[in-house]
Amino acid sequence: MSRGLRAFVTGASGQDGSYLTEQLLAAGAEVHALATPDEPVPAVDGVEVHVGDLLDVERVRDLVTQVAPDEVYNLAALSSVARSWERPDVTARLNGTAAAALMESAWQLQQRTGRVVRFVQASSAEIFGEPDRAPQDEHTPIRPLNPYGAAKSFAHLSAHVYRQRGLHATSVILYNHESPRRPRQFVTRKITSTVAEIALGRAETLTLGNLDARRDWGWAPDYVDAMVRAARAEMASDFVIATGVGHSVRDFAAAAFSHAGVTDWEDRLLVDEAFVRPADATELVGDASRARRLLDWAPTVAFEDLVGRMVDADLGSLSG
Ligand code: GDP
Repeated sequence: MSRGLRAFVTGASGQDGSYLTEQLLAAGAEVHALATPDEPVPAVDGVEVHVGDLLDVERVRDLVTQVAPDEVYNLAALSSVARSWERPDVTARLNGTAAAALMESAWQLQQRTGRVVRFVQASSAEIFGEPDRAPQDEHTPIRPLNPYGAAKSFAHLSAHVYRQRGLHATSVILYNHESPRRPRQFVTRKITSTVAEIALGRAETLTLGNLDARRDWGWAPDYVDAMVRAARAEMASDFVIATGVGHSVRDFAAAAFSHAGVTDWEDRLLVDEAFVRPADATELVGDASRARRLLDWAPTVAFEDLVGRMVDADLGSLSG
């Protein structure tokens, strides 16, 4: 009996997971999400939620067998680089070894059923650490600088291992990607939410850490679209997903203040060493030429527009 495409998504309650499940459902796929008991169940109609922890390898293996997905998207992770310093062991397990265990489960399913299983690993620019060239591409040496990057590197390399083993395992090396759904622990949303408060007279100042760090910030739904394209590409591979344009944290703050109409912002922007990290890459900017060529992917939202959308969303939710 024929059936529609079935996807298994971990980390479905996060920013990317929510956009991904929406995109897959809109295209008619059957979506199964893995969520821990304390995670908010994805607020998307039609998602079948399975309660479980990615760290529980046996439970997840049983689930993969039962669901028998055509596509597996591994988005579950401890997502904050800053917090990975406080919990390096959990980061290593969740972002690293659990990903390899999920690849093994997908490979076993494929072996048993004889049907192709496509696996997408959400990798990160943090695997490159402090690269000696910009922009980075799929050939840039892997030299992480923090526990988050080290664990993501292990998962990234595991995708290579399973690709050799015959799994359609793709690693998408995602540069920073943002949206109004980004939690406030990330610098972009911290900036836009605080700037909105300042614009409405509810806060006075914005306190950040390293203002000179340069990042390549894109629009999260574009990055999720890249994941789906990568899953369905003929060949499994590594793909850098990025806009190719870098801006500093200061640039982001300036653009947000300007969009919100706050002109005296220089006096309101403070620095507190508490927000400066033990090690922080100077510049992470990606070259997504390979994704453009092989996935026909391109970012659709430029920096100023991204900042504007996030500020407007925060102004809207505070005023509404
Ligand atoms: P990450 O790249 O995944 O760690 O995303 P973040 O949004 O947390 O951090 C992006 C950059 O902003 C890093 O270089 C941080 O050091 C820098 N940054 C500067 N001030 C802050 C801050 O107050 N909070 C956060 N989260 N990052 C900050």
